[in-house]
Order: sequence, then C-alpha cells, then structure tokens
Amino acid sequence: ERTTVLITGCSSGIGLGLAARLAADGRFKGKGVTLCPGGADPPRVPQPGWAAASAAERLGVTVAVVSPPVYATMRDLAKGQRLLERLGGCCPDTLEVLQLDVTDLRSVAAAAQRVQEQRLDVLVCNAGVGLMGPLETCSEQAMKTLFEVNLFGAIRTIQAFLPAMKRRRAGRILVSSSIGGLQGLPFNAVYCASKFAVEGLCESLAVVLRPFNIHLTLVECGPVNTSFLTNLRRPDPEGSEMQGLDAETRGLYRRFLQHCQSLFRHTAQEVEDVLQAFLEAMGTPCPPLRRVTTQLFAPLLRLRLTSPDGSAYVQAMHDFVFGGGEAGGDQP
Ligand code: NAD
Repeated sequence: ERTTVLITGCSSGIGLGLAARLAADGRFKGKGVTLCPGGADPPRVPQPGWAAASAAERLGVTVAVVSPPVYATMRDLAKGQRLLERLGGCCPDTLEVLQLDVTDLRSVAAAAQRVQEQRLDVLVCNAGVGLMGPLETCSEQAMKTLFEVNLFGAIRTIQAFLPAMKRRRAGRILVSSSIGGLQGLPFNAVYCASKFAVEGLCESLAVVLRPFNIHLTLVECGPVNTSFLTNLRRPDPEGSEMQGLDAETRGLYRRFLQHCQSLFRHTAQEVEDVLQAFLEAMGTPCPPLRRVTTQLFAPLLRLRLTSPDGSAYVQAMHDFVFGGGEAGGDQP
C-alpha cells in the first residue's frame, strides 16, 4: 500500500532529509515512470509543478499518469537543487516538488488544489523559523514574521488539507514542534511562545480528530544539526541592537550564546537521527500525540510535572544555562 505524504519546508534541514528519505523508500514508490529515457538529460532545476510527468513531457516522452507519493514543498523552488542533488541529480517518479509558502494563503491553496485528486495520507507541517535574543531587542516585525510562519503557517496548512482527511476519515498530521514548545528556554521567549501555541493548537485538535481516525503527532526535537541556528535572527551581543539594554542582561545573553554553542556542539542530533521519530509516527497504528527525539531534557521536563508551580523548573533551567555559580554548567 502506497503512502502519500506532503511536507512543508523541504529546501533544507529536517524537511529536506525527510523528503529524500521517503522518496527513496519502498513504501512511498510512485507508479513507475522512466524519467530519464534514451540518455536525455534529466531536469536540473525544479520548476513550478515540477514532477516526473512534466519532466517527461518536456523530453517528449509519453508517460502514464503519475501520482507521486511524496510532495516536497518549499517557499522558493530555486532552492530545490539541494534536494535534487541528494537524490542523485535526477527527480525520481516518487517525488514532486511544489511551491508552498506557509505565510501565503493563495500558495497554500494552490498546493492543496494540486494534490486534491490524490489521497493525502500524511501531512507534515515542518516549516519553521527561530528568533533569539533579549525580549527587549525583538522587533515587532520579527515577532510577527515568526508567528506567521510557526503558528499561522501550520494552521493555514492544516486548514487546507484537513477537510479531505475528514471526508475520508483517515490521515495523519505530523508537526515539527520543539523541546522549546514544552518548556521555556532563556532568550528564546518568542520562539517558545510560538511553539507553545503550536502545542495548544495540536493538543486541542487531536481531541476532535480522534473520531475521524486522524492521528496528530508533535515531533519534539532538541538541538539538531541543520541550518536552523545560522538562519535564525539573533542579535550580536556587542551590536547596536543592544544599545540601551542593561549590562546584566547583556552579560547573561553572552553566557547563553556560549552555552548554546556548546550544547549544539556536544549534543545536537543529526537529521538522520530525528527522522526515525517521523517515520514511526507515519507507520505505527496508534502514534502518540508527542514524540521527543532526545532524552537530553527529560530531567528538566519531569520537573514541570513533579513541581507544577514552576519554581523548581525556573531554578534548574537557570542553573543549567548560566551555571549555579560563575563557572557555568553544561549538563541538565
Ligand atoms: P531549517 O532552517 O533547515 O528548515 C526550516 C525550513 O522551513 C527551511 O527550509 C525554510 O526555508 C522553511 N521555511 C521558512 N519559512 C517558510 C515559509 N514561509 N514557507 C515555507 N517554508 C518556510 O531548520 P530545521 O532544523 O530543519 O527546522 C525544521 C523544523 O524543526 C522547524 O519547525 C523548527 O522549528 C524545528 N526544530 C528545529 C530544531 C533544530 O535545532 N534544528 C530544534 C527543534 C525544532
């Protein structure tokens, strides 16, 4: 039985890794079309609606109707080259790359329209951006953009694909959330706020989706080696954005950045390591609402349950990031 999947945010990181893995996986095989016949050059750069069928059309080859099981979507199709390279430079019949900007309702609707004749088994809301820094330095625009992508982007995408899943009374929705959606992280207040919101959204939705046989899973990643950290907006502690900020917060922010760098260096998972969580959520009969990819933060997470007033968590997180004394600690 073929499984059809649509993933957002596939130009890099987890989305790219997941799309490449699924496109190469037997369970996600398409209907078998020869894409690069007679020694003709395969298409190098994805175009709108880029797929095995359209590529073959351009090459003047007659093909059967192709229904690719993996729709890898991205905001900017020009960035599809990396995915193509990962797949050996040739678009397999198992894959179609579609334009989808989660902040643009028309773009989301167009992608949903394109997939409409297909039965979509799994929707993966993965697109996301980060924002770090003292709260006082987060601009109105940066905060709004973050919520537009992380929260409203996920809502728009789910709204577009949910009605068809409900009609079929089947489907799975996977959402790339974060440990930062389960616990507050210093200097990540707005990012955590967006992921906490995603958690509330999904937990609420999961209750209603139960009778429709639609399973929703939040994949809670800790640090993962992707371009996420370099892509995110993060003010320089010595930069102009810090002007007017008190020296104590600036000092704490400097220490946080060191801690963050060291945490990523020593504990970050590779994309391949976190893909297992997504594959399990797609494959197991009754996937959980939440699936963490690392046990690194388990002791801190447990504190939230054992000490519900939150003060033990705040103290422990402070010690974890800034150290009990001046030395600083790296272990949770
Ligand atoms: P990444 O930066 O490589 O990937 C994020 C993807 O989202 C990019 O391809 C980007 O182009 C895309 N994107 C951004 N805005 C978009 C928009 N408007 N429309 C469509 N796509 C858009 O980082 P990643 O680590 O692969 O992140 C994937 C998800 O995992 C995110 O939701 C992120 O919050 C979450 N996450 C990452 C980490 C980490 O440490 N890398 C940790 C926890 C959670």
